[in-house]
Amino acid sequence: MTDGSPSRPVRTRFAPSPSGDLHVGNVRTALYAWAWARHTGGSFIVRIEDTDRSRVTDEAVAAVIRSLRWLGLDWDEGPEVGGDYGPYLQSERLAFYSEWAERFLAEGAAYHCYCTQEELDAEREAQRAKGLPPGYSGRCRDLEAGQVTAYQAEGRRPVVRFRMPRGTTVVHDTIRGEVVFDHANIPDFVIMRANGYPLYNLAASVDDALMRITHIVRGDDLLASTPRQIAILRAMGVPEEDLPVYTHCPYVLDPDGKPLSKRYGSSAISWYRQNGYLPEAVVNYLALLGWSPGRDREDLTLTALAEIFDLSRVGATAGRLDPKKLDAINGDKIRALDPEDLVRRIMPFLRTAGLVSDPPLPEQTHIVRAAAPLVQERLSHLDEAAEMLAFLLVREDVFTVDPESAARVLVEDAKAVLEAADAALRNLSTWDRASIEQTLRHVLIDELGRRPKHAFGPVRVAVTGRRVSPPLFESLELLGRERTLTRIRHALDQHVGA
Ligand code: GLU
Ligand code: ZN
Repeated sequence: MTDGSPSRPVRTRFAPSPSGDLHVGNVRTALYAWAWARHTGGSFIVRIEDTDRSRVTDEAVAAVIRSLRWLGLDWDEGPEVGGDYGPYLQSERLAFYSEWAERFLAEGAAYHCYCTQEELDAEREAQRAKGLPPGYSGRCRDLEAGQVTAYQAEGRRPVVRFRMPRGTTVVHDTIRGEVVFDHANIPDFVIMRANGYPLYNLAASVDDALMRITHIVRGDDLLASTPRQIAILRAMGVPEEDLPVYTHCPYVLDPDGKPLSKRYGSSAISWYRQNGYLPEAVVNYLALLGWSPGRDREDLTLTALAEIFDLSRVGATAGRLDPKKLDAINGDKIRALDPEDLVRRIMPFLRTAGLVSDPPLPEQTHIVRAAAPLVQERLSHLDEAAEMLAFLLVREDVFTVDPESAARVLVEDAKAVLEAADAALRNLSTWDRASIEQTLRHVLIDELGRRPKHAFGPVRVAVTGRRVSPPLFESLELLGRERTLTRIRHALDQHVGA
């Protein structure tokens, strides 16, 4: 494995096509490209490949950037930060692609192709009939001037095709080793449409050269494009020793071992954000998917990743998404947050659930601050906080008891418990956790003779609305005496019958 030629500082790039949200497989390559730049003291560049105008919207570009920021990645050059090799949106770099296409045409590295779609289809059909592999025959390679004039007179507008030289290309890939491509199987390919828009291979190669990219980390679906891109780089005059080092990462698989498709719910990075994952957990999990830091190290942060990441250790086996493992990492990372940070992270979920205002009122912040530590141990996803804390934050007139819990726990037998709790709590002199616990234990267990489950279960369901809740006595303290008593009375009236 090489760090690139010693005279050249490492420059890696992430080049998403913003045709939807970032895919987790892409994010993994972004992480590796970022980590390699950070590890080597090089630069990480984000370039937006948005020349396919039909699919790209400003919102899609913004979403990609938002997702990268959410993950905690930073870039030295790219959208929002600029840099010496910009602009970093391909749609703003069209002049570069035209210029290179013109140069290739002038030098004979490319030529105008006037074939119509029907002609190309017919050609492919004929090849198939003869049992030949389909591919452009090169019939416009050396058109005579008269033929060109005739085509133009017909109103045909040419595309620009790259003239693939004879020979072979050896791609040095850090995962695959040396991969040999015989150009006999690589027909001349279109680099620019008739409307002057560049195709991916041209735009990506021109940018990789102009942006002095030294390492390309990307999905292995692009391995087949690599000999074409190397041919373009060579035609641009990039010396052999300056060709980028390639790392083609295997595709991320779904839990069943199939390629992760967009249909799978959790293939898009925004899904993780919406479903209560910490970006630190997603980063940790994806970094370990198909890459091993050795030494059984499993707890990774971006900082640690930058420190220890080694491109040469990225494995050839595709990682399978393992939701259980990711959830476990997420729970660990949530437990490790400091309480104020946890509050900050769960607020958006409480807001979405309509439990706090935007911005939160001071009393809402107060309750969430006090309650967050109570649920921290139990959260495996941030969004669960909304369900767990709802009873503290809902307006009293919309508080409801989960019907299933009511049917199970608020039964005839609970009547005596709730009445005793009501009386004891009404007369309690100090409303704090210790006094609440002491008095409830006394009247419900010692005096009434109930087991803890039958003593506290009905109080829990009446007051929190559910059978699973944050710790009971703390919950009552936070809720306050008045609301606690209202709910116990309500349970007595509505459910067990006073
Ligand atoms: N824009 C391409 C894609 O998102 C990737 C380009 C590259 O990494 O070379 O598939
Ligand atoms: Zn042609």
